[in-house]
Amino acid sequence: VSQELKRNFSIIAHIDHGKSTLADRLIQSTGTVADRDMQNQLLDSMDLEKEKGITIKANTVTINYKANDGKTYQLNLIDTPGHVDFIYEVSRSLAACEGALLVVDAAQGVEAQTLANVYLALEQDLEVVPVINKIDLPAADVEKVRNEIEDVIGIPADEAVLTSAKSGIGIEDLLEAIVKFIPAPANSEDGPLKALIFDSHFDDYRGVITYVRVVDGTIKKGDKIKIFSTNHQFDVLECGIFSPGMNPTNILTAGSVGYVITGTKSIHDSQVGDTVTSVKNPCERPLEGYRKAQSMVFAGLYPISTDDYEDLREAIEKLQLNDASLTFEPETSLALGFGFRCGFLGLLHMEIIVERLRREYDIDLISTSPSVEYRIHKENEPMYTIDNPEDFPGGGQGKVIVEEPYIKGNIIVPKDYVGGVMELCQLKRGVYVSMNYIDDTRAMITYEMPLAEIVLDFYDKLKSRTKGYASFEYEMIGYRPGNLVKVNILVSGEPVDAFSFIAHTDHAQARGRIIVEKLKEIIPRQQFEIPIQAALGAKIIARETIRAFRKNVTAKCYGGDISRKKKLLEKQKAGKKRMKQIGNVEIPQEAFISVLKLS
Ligand code: GDP
Ligand code: MG
Repeated sequence: VSQELKRNFSIIAHIDHGKSTLADRLIQSTGTVADRDMQNQLLDSMDLEKEKGITIKANTVTINYKANDGKTYQLNLIDTPGHVDFIYEVSRSLAACEGALLVVDAAQGVEAQTLANVYLALEQDLEVVPVINKIDLPAADVEKVRNEIEDVIGIPADEAVLTSAKSGIGIEDLLEAIVKFIPAPANSEDGPLKALIFDSHFDDYRGVITYVRVVDGTIKKGDKIKIFSTNHQFDVLECGIFSPGMNPTNILTAGSVGYVITGTKSIHDSQVGDTVTSVKNPCERPLEGYRKAQSMVFAGLYPISTDDYEDLREAIEKLQLNDASLTFEPETSLALGFGFRCGFLGLLHMEIIVERLRREYDIDLISTSPSVEYRIHKENEPMYTIDNPEDFPGGGQGKVIVEEPYIKGNIIVPKDYVGGVMELCQLKRGVYVSMNYIDDTRAMITYEMPLAEIVLDFYDKLKSRTKGYASFEYEMIGYRPGNLVKVNILVSGEPVDAFSFIAHTDHAQARGRIIVEKLKEIIPRQQFEIPIQAALGAKIIARETIRAFRKNVTAKCYGGDISRKKKLLEKQKAGKKRMKQIGNVEIPQEAFISVLKLS
């Protein structure tokens, strides 16, 4: 296919505005997939994606479309995730495109992530084509949404395509708009090979599958290629396009999007953002990379059974092959034993990884409460970072300044909820920046807030305070000093590392109290009194006591029936396996889980 017949585009939108359904329609209406093979959300292949109804990884498909001008165009569609956690997946998809379809729900209007995504597209100089979807809904208000796109985003919307992905309305118009408004790639097929790696995945049988956008030159089966950053050379065993499964064409020309297989098992030779070139006629400089994935949230993952430790390591390694944004290193906890400290893009990312470990690898595990990364400045020492409360500097170390990451968050909300949202942001140590009405019913509120507060439970609280009507999006803005302390939880005077946390001084006591109360509920009575305390250094800030329980379990056996007594003791022992011994106290596994859920 010649250059002027190619169109590379992404679909961007706020979550649930209909991206994936629209992608399905485009695939179906062009006969890319036979009707009988059609299933909803075709591109969302991971089980979890289907179940949660969200797109996690970007997906790619090549569609052939015969336009009204009689020519057949090759459309390369790259679906993108809508959730903030995966914004970097969006930016890498966009780097492979000339244009983007901006999908806005006709009943909901512009939401926080519509804005975040469209700014990424404009930053990359993409042609943005507005699409107003769900026009079949009774609550659809096309004119209002058109005005919002123009006023809030600032792009013309008089030619916005009107669609209903659900009922299949406007799909033809959309295909024509793609051909008309999105520019063809302007590259040369003869120059030295330059291809951008925008994704990859690991296949147990075939090794690494590298997703590329060929910018200049051509890749053919049998070519010798070179990875720019590692300088490693490979033979191309196979290359092709997605339609939507892998379809070997064994040639990819400039402007094309597809995959390359070289047989390598090393994910390091397929780093997203890297450049592929040819050995014979190499390019001089790599393509410009883009926003890199950065871990924002950290937590320890521990197998419930110590026997699963090696399995857990293997499982995390496997997941990492497909997800370079997941980081991990071994860690030990007095309370939980051997495990791994993992870094995630955000809470949803963490939840998905934990869920996949449980489901796909059948590993029972506990995660410690998520933490952000803190910067520690001690006098006369270089700055260092920590993400585990255990590493928080204790007292008596001279002047220590602790900095925490801050975000700038945009919240779009119906005006009745403005008061409640501002109150919540204030509670979460937010610093007010601005508030604007985006139309006569909704406002956009901007706050700067510590990331640690967002990680905690901000999103849930925001949803419940606004009956689910608020949308929220944020970006990192750097580090700021905070009045932060480490709170220890002591059980019978022994600190339990898995329960300790870092908090702002003003919140330390309240959070300590909640945990102490929960533990009192969950730890079974034993034959002695158990004090449970929250402590700030040597100062106790909350305390509960579990009273001793008087009866002896074996007492009712009257000393006579030895075998029955033995059985009872054995049963107790088996029960103990699911307990962790801390000093002289046994804490049931569920105590860890429920406390970590609290924070
Ligand atoms: P995504 O999160 O942007 O990928 O959104 P999905 O494609 O998963 O769609 C979210 C929900 O909206 C699903 O329940 C779809 O069935 C529904 N939906 C998508 N397009 C339309 C439409 O045009 N009309 C109506 N009524 N519902 C739609
Ligand atoms: Mg989707």
